[in-house]
Amino acid sequence: EHAASAPLPGVGGATAVAGGPPRCKLVLLGDSGVGKSALVQRQCRGTFNPDMTVTVGAAFLAHTLSLPSGVAVKFEIWDTAGQERYESLAPLYYRGATAAAIVFDVSSEKSFARAQHWVAELQRHASQRPLMVLVGNKTDLPAEERAVTREAAAELADSNDMLYIETSAKTGSNVAALFELIAEHIAAPPPT
Ligand code: GDP
Repeated sequence: EHAASAPLPGVGGATAVAGGPPRCKLVLLGDSGVGKSALVQRQCRGTFNPDMTVTVGAAFLAHTLSLPSGVAVKFEIWDTAGQERYESLAPLYYRGATAAAIVFDVSSEKSFARAQHWVAELQRHASQRPLMVLVGNKTDLPAEERAVTREAAAELADSNDMLYIETSAKTGSNVAALFELIAEHIAAPPPT
């Protein structure tokens, strides 16, 4: 279920195969160290490994999530595998993205400031505007380490037409909720 497989056909939007489940190419964006891989690992394997090293090789993970409605969304989750160091990810990474999670670390002002850079990157490269979710990760850290308020993050999300959610890959708090939020929007997009 979690192995890499052939890329999904089609460009942009949920690729609704007749009779098949909705599909979602989800790209993870955000500076190195914010917890992108930890979020994927938490969702797909149910674990948190503080010493996790970057896995290079597999371009993405396949993950199926069943909603309470009975609809199953087939995710193709693209993690950067450290490429964020090069500022711009390969166009292949962004191509046909259905959804994007722009992740920052709530204890890092810099990672939050950089979230805007990643939004701009996405808008420059994505052919069709994907569903965008701003993710404030590491909420398990002590309150005194918090550097970004929920209000500031919600404001950034609002002004860029993004959803906002706070997570902890370490405790698992809201991680399933993040993927469900995306799946719900993909399965039944709100009327425009
Ligand atoms: P990535 O570079 O964005 O993929 O970040 P990683 O997933 O490699 O995580 C970077 C570091 O932050 C690692 O040391 C993780 O253990 C740690 N980390 C990730 N998520 C959390 C979290 O929710 N809480 C805490 N306290 N640490 C986290």
